[in-house]
Amino acid sequence: MSTQTPTQPERCAICGCVLHRNGGYAHPTYEARSHATGHHLVAERFFGRSGNRAGESRDSIFSSCPWNSEHVSKVFCYECHEIMLHNPVLLTEDIDTFSEIVRARGFDEDIKPRDYNRIGGRIRLFHEIIAAGLKALSKTTPQ
Ligand SMILES: [Zn+2]
Repeated sequence: MSTQTPTQPERCAICGCVLHRNGGYAHPTYEARSHATGHHLVAERFFGRSGNRAGESRDSIFSSCPWNSEHVSKVFCYECHEIMLHNPVLLTEDIDTFSEIVRARGFDEDIKPRDYNRIGGRIRLFHEIIAAGLKALSKTTPQ
């Protein structure tokens, strides 16, 4: 009888599916849907780095992470990462309401300024909205 603890399978941080790293990422196959993929919770580009173009630099939106989560990443399945997280659904009324809040908070723009304070404000606001929605729904979701 083995005294070793069985290795837990790697799972998606959102849907919980068992992940694999057998190749075929982004191929249109059943297996590719559960391929493991890492994702920075706060985009590297916000700090002037390119996640997929090493060495390429751009202007930083944030000099330090507003959420103290720079470099933090999670592992997801292809579906949760590439299909869902990268393609949030925002309907016309959602955009209109977001734009109203952006204006109310003073993060709207006329001519693009040289600095990134207002886009930084919009990014922080967008996260605030997601966090508020999660908090509201987690209270009503059956456990
Ligand atoms: Zn998933």
